[in-house]
Amino acid sequence: MLFREITGLQDIKQSLVGTVANNHVAHAQLFHGGEGTANLALALAYATYVNCENKQADDACGKCPSCLKMSKLAHPDVTYIFPTAGGKSVLSENFMAQWRSFVKETPFGNLSDWLEKIGVKQGNIPAEEARQLIQKLALKSYEGGYKIVIIWQAEYLHNTTANALLKILEEPPEQTLFLLVVSSMERLLTTIISRTQRVAIRKFSENELVQYLATKDVSQERARQIAFLSEGNMHKALEILEKAEDTDHAWFANWMRMCYALNLQKLVPMADEFDARSKEQQKGLLEYGLSIFREIFLYSNGGQNLIRLENDELVFVQRFSTAINMNNLEQIIDTLGEAFYHIERNARAKIVFLDISLIIARLMK
Ligand SMILES: [Zn+2]
Repeated sequence: MLFREITGLQDIKQSLVGTVANNHVAHAQLFHGGEGTANLALALAYATYVNCENKQADDACGKCPSCLKMSKLAHPDVTYIFPTAGGKSVLSENFMAQWRSFVKETPFGNLSDWLEKIGVKQGNIPAEEARQLIQKLALKSYEGGYKIVIIWQAEYLHNTTANALLKILEEPPEQTLFLLVVSSMERLLTTIISRTQRVAIRKFSENELVQYLATKDVSQERARQIAFLSEGNMHKALEILEKAEDTDHAWFANWMRMCYALNLQKLVPMADEFDARSKEQQKGLLEYGLSIFREIFLYSNGGQNLIRLENDELVFVQRFSTAINMNNLEQIIDTLGEAFYHIERNARAKIVFLDISLIIARLMK
C-alpha cells in the first residue's frame, strides 16, 4: 500500500511523512480511527515508506525491493498480528494467505468481514502470539531496515498478550516499530495507550468519498448520494455501492406519496415488491428513508444551509416539509427505526411494510 493509493487524507499523510523527514519516528504508534477509516491502509503505507530504499518527498517509491515485498505483504521484517480463533496455538502466521487476500480485496474491511473470511464467529489475539513475537524481535532484521510489527484490531489483544506486549513496549528492541491499528480505544489497556503515540485517523470527507467512488464506475449523482449516506465511512460506502441500486430514491419517494394519499391499491403491491427484495436491500431502503426524514427535520427547523442534497431529493425534502405535520416527524423516524429493527430480526417484510405504511399515513394527516 502506498500513500497515493489512498484517497484524500492529505493532512494525515503529510504529518506521517514528516515524522520520517524529521527523524521523529516514535517506536510505538496507535493508528486510531473508527470503522471505515483508512487506519489499516495508512499504517501499511507508513510501514512501506519507513523501509523504502528510495523515499520520495511524499511517498515511497513503490519499486525498490522493500516496496515490492511490502506490496505483497511478504516483507521478512514485517510481522502482522490480527485476531484469529481456533485455540491458543492458532497464530496469525497460519492465516497469512487469507490475510493477504483480505487486505488486497479491501483494506477497509471490519472485524466481522475478517472473521467471516476465516470462518469463525469470535476472534482474539492469544498470549502465544506475544511469546513468538518476543523471540522474533530478538533476531536481527533481515534487510537492515526497521523491524515492523503491525497489530490490526489491537483492542482484541488477550489480557496476557497485552501485558507481554507492554514489556516489549517499555524496553523496545532497537530499530523496531510497533503500529497498533485500532477502531475503538475503550477495550485497550490504558497502560498500552500511554506508551504509544496516537495517530488520529479522521473519517473521509464527503468530497473524498465522492472522489473515490468516481473511480468505481458510478454516476456523479449516485456517488454523491452514497457519500452522503455513508457519513465518511468507506466500509459503509462500499457496502451501499454493492447492494443498492439507483432507484432507491424514486421508489422511496413514490412510497411516501402513496402513504400520503393512503392509496391502498398501490400500497399492497408495493408491499409485495418490498418483500421480494433481499433483506440487505430492505434495510438499505429503510436506512435511506431515515436519512431523508432527518434532512426534512433539519430543513423545517431552519437548517436549510445544512442540507446536503441536490436535485430530486432536495425537491422532495422541500415539498414534504410543507406537507407534513412537524409534530409527527419524530414518530415517523421512530417508526422507520423500529421497522429496521424488526427486519433485522427476520420479521415478515410484507407485514412490516404494510404496518409502517399505515402508521406513516396516519401521522401525515
Ligand atoms: Zn521503495
